[in-house]
Amino acid sequence: MQTQLEQTMTGKRTVVVGAGTSGRSAARLVRALGADVTLLDANENALDDTLRAQLEGEGIVLRFGPHKPDYFDGADTVVLSPGVPARKIRALFPMDVAPEIMSELELAGRYASGRVLAITGTNGKTTTTALCAHVLRHMGLSVFEGGNIGTPLSEHVLSGRSADALVLEVSSFQAQNCTSFRPEVAVLLNLTEDHQDYHADMDEYLRAKLNLFAFMTDEDLAIVPADMREKLEEYSFTAARVRFFESTDRFECDRLPGAHNQANMEAAYQALRRFGVNERDMREALATFEPHPHRLERVGEHAGVTFVNDSKATTVASLKAALEAFEQPVLLLAGGKYKGGDLKALAPLLRRKVRAVCLFGDSRHIFEQAWAGNVPLAWERDMEGAVRRLMTWAESGDVMLLSPATASYDLYNNYCERGDDFRRIFNLLEEEL
Ligand code: ADP
Repeated sequence: MQTQLEQTMTGKRTVVVGAGTSGRSAARLVRALGADVTLLDANENALDDTLRAQLEGEGIVLRFGPHKPDYFDGADTVVLSPGVPARKIRALFPMDVAPEIMSELELAGRYASGRVLAITGTNGKTTTTALCAHVLRHMGLSVFEGGNIGTPLSEHVLSGRSADALVLEVSSFQAQNCTSFRPEVAVLLNLTEDHQDYHADMDEYLRAKLNLFAFMTDEDLAIVPADMREKLEEYSFTAARVRFFESTDRFECDRLPGAHNQANMEAAYQALRRFGVNERDMREALATFEPHPHRLERVGEHAGVTFVNDSKATTVASLKAALEAFEQPVLLLAGGKYKGGDLKALAPLLRRKVRAVCLFGDSRHIFEQAWAGNVPLAWERDMEGAVRRLMTWAESGDVMLLSPATASYDLYNNYCERGDDFRRIFNLLEEEL
C-alpha cells in the first residue's frame, strides 16, 4: 500500500549537512514534507551534475564549500550526516535560537510506520541485519531492510510503502543524534575500539551506541552481550526489558563461520523471538541465507590453498574473529589505513594460527612494530605481490586470508574494491596454472 506524505513541515526551514546518501535522502524527505531545504557539503565536488539537477528540480537549495554561518539563518531543524559533529553545528547558534539537531534516522523514524528492529555494534551489524531481515521474510512478513548500509530509512518513507517490519542497521553516528527514536527491539552486538578519529574516547563511543536504547520503554526489548553486563550496569541506558545473549552452538550455517557469527546468530534469534520466530523457523531460514560478500567469503581453492575474502575486516576485532574461525594454518594478508586497535594483543593468536603474514600498502611500520618476532613477516607494495609472496610459503590445506584490520583508502576506493582485487588475483593465479 502507498500513502501520500502530509505536508507537516510547511513553513519550516531545514538545513541538511552532508550530501552523501543519507543526507540527500533526508533533504528529499523534508522537502516532500513541505519544508524549505538547504543541503550543504564542504566538498565542492560532492555531487555530479545529474544529482545536482535532480535535487534542484525538487526545490532543494544546494551550497558547497566551507559552511558559512548564514546558511543556518532561521533554521528550525538541522539534519547531520555521519561524521559531522553536532557540537560544531551547535556552536554556530546562541542557546536561545538553537534549532533541533538530529540524524537522518531520527528524522525518518518520526514518519516511518512498521515495527522497528534496530541493530548496532562495532562489528557484525550488516551480517546480523541481513539475517534478521531474511528470517522475517521467510516468515512471510514484508520487510524494509536498510539504514546505515543500503537504503536510508528516509527513502522508505518517501516511497510511501508500508512494511510489517523495519530492520535497520544503525551506526554510532546515527544513534548519537537521536532524540526520540524508539525501536521495539534493539540489539547491541559488541563494542570494541573503532571510530576513535570521530569519538573522543570509548566512553563517548559507548554512550553514542547506547543512545539507540534511550527512548525505549518497558514494552520494548533490548538485546545486549552478556560479556558487557558489568560495563552496562554502570550506565542506566534504557527503560526497556534487557535480555543478555552469548555465543552458543544452537545454530549452524556454513556461510556464517566462526564463534563471532554464532554470537550474531544468537543475538538475531533473541531479537526475532519477539516476532514469533522459533528455533525451527530460524534453522529453516538459515538454510537459504546468503550473507553479503567480503565477510569471510570463500572465494575458491588454488593449489590446495583456500582463499577467503574478509576485506570488510576493517577493525582489529574483526581480524581476531577471523583468525579464531580457522583451524587450518593461515597465510594472512593485512595492512592498509590503520584506524586504531591493539595489534600487539593479537600476537599470541598469530603464533597459534598463522604460518606467515604479508603486509601490503600503508601502515607497514605499525604492524611490524606489533608483530615482528612472532611470525614470519614480509611487506609488499600491493596485494598481488603479497599474495604471490605468501604462495611461496604455502602448504596444501592452508587458508589464504585477506582480513586487513584496516580501512582500504590507501590503495582502493573502498573495501569492496579491495575484496574484488583479491578475487581478481585468485582468478589470475588459476589462469596461470
Ligand atoms: P559491520 O556492518 O558492523 O561492519 P559486517 O557484518 O559487515 O559488520 O562485518 C564486518 C567484519 O566484522 C567482517 O570482517 C566480519 O567477518 C566481522 N564480524 C562480523 N561479526 C562480528 C562479531 N560479532 N565480532 C567480530 N567481528 C565480526
